[in-house]
Amino acid sequence: MSNDRLNPTVVVIGAGMTGIAVVIKLKAAGINNITLLEKGESVGGTWRENRYPAVGCDVPSHAYTYSFEPNPDWSNFFADGKEIHEYFKNVYLKYGVDKHLRLNEGVTSCVYQNNRWTVKTTRNLTYEADLLFAATGMLHKPNYPAIPGLESFGGVSMHSARWDTTVDMKGKCIGVIGTGSSATQLIPELIGTQGTHVTVFQRTAQWLVDAPNHAYNKQDKEQFRKRPWRMKRVRFLSLSVYAQATAALVADDWLARFMHSIFAWNGRRYLEKSIKDPELRAKLTPDYKFGCKRVVMNSTFYPAIQKPNARLVTQGIDRIEKEGVVTKDGELHKLDVLVLATGFDPAAYMRPMEFRGRNGLSIEDAWKKKIQAYRSLLIPEFPNFFLMLGPNSPIGNYSVIAMSEMQADYCIALIKLWQQNRLQDIEVKPQALEQWRAMLKSKMEHTVWSSGCNSWYLDADGDPLTWPDKWKNWVSMMSDINTRDLIGS
Ligand code: NAP
Repeated sequence: MSNDRLNPTVVVIGAGMTGIAVVIKLKAAGINNITLLEKGESVGGTWRENRYPAVGCDVPSHAYTYSFEPNPDWSNFFADGKEIHEYFKNVYLKYGVDKHLRLNEGVTSCVYQNNRWTVKTTRNLTYEADLLFAATGMLHKPNYPAIPGLESFGGVSMHSARWDTTVDMKGKCIGVIGTGSSATQLIPELIGTQGTHVTVFQRTAQWLVDAPNHAYNKQDKEQFRKRPWRMKRVRFLSLSVYAQATAALVADDWLARFMHSIFAWNGRRYLEKSIKDPELRAKLTPDYKFGCKRVVMNSTFYPAIQKPNARLVTQGIDRIEKEGVVTKDGELHKLDVLVLATGFDPAAYMRPMEFRGRNGLSIEDAWKKKIQAYRSLLIPEFPNFFLMLGPNSPIGNYSVIAMSEMQADYCIALIKLWQQNRLQDIEVKPQALEQWRAMLKSKMEHTVWSSGCNSWYLDADGDPLTWPDKWKNWVSMMSDINTRDLIGS
């Protein structure tokens, strides 16, 4: 353990997209004494864990790329999960992140004592750190639905994020619970598998935006390689559209409201054009505002759900029995395989683990009233700790990579001040967190997320867990360090 601020010891938890970016940026800032702890058997986070059929990213590949590592070889406008996983594996090797990495080593506890963090792992190892990053991702803890009898199901059951690739789906009766982004990607693959019969249990209809994919050919890739500005152009245009869409969701001025009505019209038109049967169309029509739940970008679900071997069931689920799912109308849907595409616990963050700040304060106690962090990153009484992609990080459907990079830059700017002894510790004042909360609250009521729907975007109090403002305002906030909000500045 080094007490030399110019050569601090750093532990980063999680070798997904964010953890890799943090390590690369720390190294670029001259900080090399880093241990990257990863519970899994390889890097890649969500792209390692989600292996369901047709898993992919609904952010264009050139925008879902580190700004410092463009990739002329993306095979498609929207890349699939396997290719994205490969991209992260290549980047982490290229930037020497592997030298810091310890795989198959989950963190069991992080405790702040004697001005440092003590980190314990599943291998019974202990690490000491001056600075601690949790890059554990927003959506890593599967949400298993509290449906009576779930454990009694006699067939094969799997969560979308725990896909069992050894199960042969051919000829099977398959039930899928959920119609979110994961479900709408995997359902068409199951429907398209030989001899299957697929029953989709939908609780709430989703807003879909048509997102046709196209492949980049050899010439496209050659052009991207020879003229990198072409990649930059695709990235810029894609991110501009996503920023505009986010502005429409926060709807705080006439232009945003107008844009929202255009996006909603487009969603309705896509549904009407795609679904021929009026009864099925009615079932698929959302009864809440466009964007209240995360918008599903997808062009395969509507064609697939109209196939003869597919059935959309909107009767609520009453219970699960050995043979299948029983809906509230008493019908038993006999199944061989049950897929739970039921999402994640968005409030898990770095948990489950013991996590204690100053004077033994547990994160559960710190978050008893509200799960919150100043600028999504800093928590009072948890000095020199950075919660990457913390509460209020998601910015609509915007590329999360851009956010991770900007958060990492912000943390490194704070670390530099700390290295210059201009900060005693990197710790936010409690009143600054309160002001941050009040600012969020004042903006939330305009947003579409407060318009009434059930979604992982909302916390236990019904407040949006998203950033309730435009992307450009988040960028200007993150570019202003504002040390007045920090203790001892
Ligand atoms: P999700 O959006 O939270 O969807 C979960 C689905 O399960 C919903 O349809 C939900 O219904 C249903 N559900 C949950 N509990 C249920 C219950 N007890 N009974 C019946 N239905 C139940 O989860 P997800 O599809 O895994 O996506 C989560 C997030 O991951 C996305 O929003 C996105 O941020 C990310 N993701 C991104 C991509 C991408 O392409 N970038 C792809 C996949 C996932 P209700 O709507 O009624 O709650």
